[in-house]
Amino acid sequence: TPNVWQSIAADCEIEFCLASTDPNGSSTNGITRTQTTINSFSMQGDSVKFNSGGGKDAWPNNNYLNIWVCSLNSQILGYATPPFGSIGSNDGVVIDYSNFGTFGTVQSPFNKGRTTTHEVGHWLNLEHLWGSGIVSCGNDNVNDTPKQEEENYGCPAFPHNENSCSTTNTNGDMFMNYMDYTNDACMNFFTNGQKTRMIAAINQYRSLLLNHNLCNGSTNTIEIEDSNKRLLRIVDVLGRRVYKIRKKIPMFYIYNDGTVEKRMVLE
Ligand SMILES: [Zn+2]
Repeated sequence: TPNVWQSIAADCEIEFCLASTDPNGSSTNGITRTQTTINSFSMQGDSVKFNSGGGKDAWPNNNYLNIWVCSLNSQILGYATPPFGSIGSNDGVVIDYSNFGTFGTVQSPFNKGRTTTHEVGHWLNLEHLWGSGIVSCGNDNVNDTPKQEEENYGCPAFPHNENSCSTTNTNGDMFMNYMDYTNDACMNFFTNGQKTRMIAAINQYRSLLLNHNLCNGSTNTIEIEDSNKRLLRIVDVLGRRVYKIRKKIPMFYIYNDGTVEKRMVLE
């Protein structure tokens, strides 16, 4: 991250875990493997997300982020569903196997997991730095990312494309941002503004993801879901909202019926 942007590079404080409990309440390592006769899946068909299409049905998106890893056609690295609108059984991100993770079938230059970082950014309502439309110099609705004319590839030298889009931005494009198209090795941050937008997306569209406890082998989320009361938020002893569950630290679960539970994850 260039010095000029160090101060806006965010610790997003958004963490995922591999699920330890599946939708049936059984133990899992969070990974399923599906053999298929489909050579490569298309984004338009979206059939990797369905058993009937040779893929695998999603786990309920109120509790899980589904990531399908498969062979994608037409040179697409991956794609994602944004959080707004009708999200249902097709919700999640799809990543081509040659761009997923950091070892195995992964291939340079998309071999550091950044395709998934980028797509999960979309899944949490982030847009490309140059906007989501077909016009150049579009708006990503984040005010600490500079205006950008179009996508970048490879690994440019900083600064790149100074004063583009009729600006006086001598720092040029923020091409090392995860929401550009540069090589994995050249990407290294989201901004504070992008963090704010992602956390807003979680609270507005995906807040049920905060309510369960499917990461540590416990199935006690099921009692929350079966009861009439709904979890509003989790706070720490100082009343600050908690977005990730830490072990061995007491936290307070506030429900819509006015009740509060103190809980602590021990394992
Ligand atoms: Zn994208």
